[in-house]
Amino acid sequence: MARKSMGKPVPPPQPKLIYLDPGHGGRDPGALGLRGTQEKLVVMQIARDLQRELLAGNRYRVLLTRSTDSFVALRERVARAQSARADLFLSLHADSHGDSSVRGASVYTLSEEASDREAAALAARENRADSMGPPSRFADQSQDVARTLVAMSQRGTVNDSRRLADTIVRTLGSNGVRLLPRTHRQAGFAVLTSPDIPAALVELGYLSNPQDEKLLTVRQHQLYLARALRASVDAHFGTGVATKKA
Ligand code: ZN
Repeated sequence: MARKSMGKPVPPPQPKLIYLDPGHGGRDPGALGLRGTQEKLVVMQIARDLQRELLAGNRYRVLLTRSTDSFVALRERVARAQSARADLFLSLHADSHGDSSVRGASVYTLSEEASDREAAALAARENRADSMGPPSRFADQSQDVARTLVAMSQRGTVNDSRRLADTIVRTLGSNGVRLLPRTHRQAGFAVLTSPDIPAALVELGYLSNPQDEKLLTVRQHQLYLARALRASVDAHFGTGVATKKA
């Protein structure tokens, strides 16, 4: 990375490619709120807001795994990000819980063994999305997770993903986003099985909680969450502190 002080101008580095993954879509609405809010629509809106936020600084390229209300299998989401050689993969969701008092955001990374029973149940719920697609697409996800983790640890992606998740937790917290206790958890999410791409899944809140459901549908709060996530991406790449001029 030698940089000549007075020579030819150094070409600017290729902007990082961020792959945003709004969960669910089409025939799969995801979690449903008490007032009928559909997870697939909330996360699509916030993904679009986040895309706009990230593009505004001219420092990133940003693609979405789905840009319409359509069904995209989990494996296909992973494949799209892998073939585009994304630098970061962020899956966006909103959860539901049997206890309506549970609220707050949480962040997940891939692991064969779940950090706790709730994370395991959540991964099982999210992985079920594929069963809504054509049957041929429904492959053995636990084998995928095991195989991916081997490749990820060889390439350092496991640590990068953990670092990404911790950065998101820290940044959401410092931006005043309400967090679930033990915010960074781990489980076998099929959508996080990209061996080369640091990846995290963010549950932005609980549609089963009346306050969270309301907040997740308020435009101002959606934009607020998008800004906090943009700050997380900036912090992950170390571009959030100051914008240097070339
Ligand atoms: Zn979901």
